[in-house]
Amino acid sequence: MSEPGTEALQWEIGEARVTRVVELPPLALPGLLPDATPEAVAPYEWLAPFVDEEGELLLSIHCLVIEVGERSIVVDTCIGNDKPRNLDFWSHLDTNFLERFADAGFDVERVDTVLCTHMHIDHVGWNTRLEGGKWVPTFPNAQYLFNEKEWAHWKDADDPTGPVFQDSVQPIFDAGLATLVASDHQVCEGVRLMPTEGHTPGHVSVVVESQGESAFITGDCIHHPCQIAHPEWASAADSDSNQSSQTRRDLIDRYGDQATMIIGTHFPAPTAGRIVRDGERHRFDY
Ligand SMILES: [Zn+2]
Repeated sequence: MSEPGTEALQWEIGEARVTRVVELPPLALPGLLPDATPEAVAPYEWLAPFVDEEGELLLSIHCLVIEVGERSIVVDTCIGNDKPRNLDFWSHLDTNFLERFADAGFDVERVDTVLCTHMHIDHVGWNTRLEGGKWVPTFPNAQYLFNEKEWAHWKDADDPTGPVFQDSVQPIFDAGLATLVASDHQVCEGVRLMPTEGHTPGHVSVVVESQGESAFITGDCIHHPCQIAHPEWASAADSDSNQSSQTRRDLIDRYGDQATMIIGTHFPAPTAGRIVRDGERHRFDY
């Protein structure tokens, strides 16, 4: 029996397929979006799957696997097991994420690409796993792509959440599996990065395009669907809240009332939908 909120979801975009593999079921993180109080989100009934009974925002921790042609691309690698973290609820996790990954039909040995939208604690964790007291790549045959701007920021930064860069990014460089890329990098036919800065200095999102259909994988530029109605609601984790708000406004302009499927990196099920106009604002249509 799988825990509620951990089911693998899957979407087809032309001939590409995106699968959600959950590490942690939805959890409330009060204060992450300080403006999104229970009172402020209450008027939006369409937010029901994404808030708890108290009206607190729920966040899912999952990775997304893109399959296109022969390629298997893992987007964001969650928190990881055994990692010492300054956030108690994410420290020294012991989840069965790798089992779920296998149950979803994937083989860590056959993943050819790993990409991280940014280098926060909950996006790079499974880049590595602990083996014999050392952090080794979880995906031993993959090329790991990092945006060079994001890397330049974090390589010398003090991360208040723990030694994230040291145990989840640097070992990938040491193993010779890391490649630095530009923020508009074309990963392969049908998959490209798009710069969506503001949450972090080098944050990127991922665009999937196949046979006239498209999807946009958010990363954390949109943490929660409530920001589709209120792009000005910044996250306490945003490095530049003015820039992150502008990024969200631009995305809503770009994707509002379009066919592009928006797949949320932290959106609990149903996780994917479209941005549609709703009076003076927009909402998530799923
Ligand atoms: Zn995140």
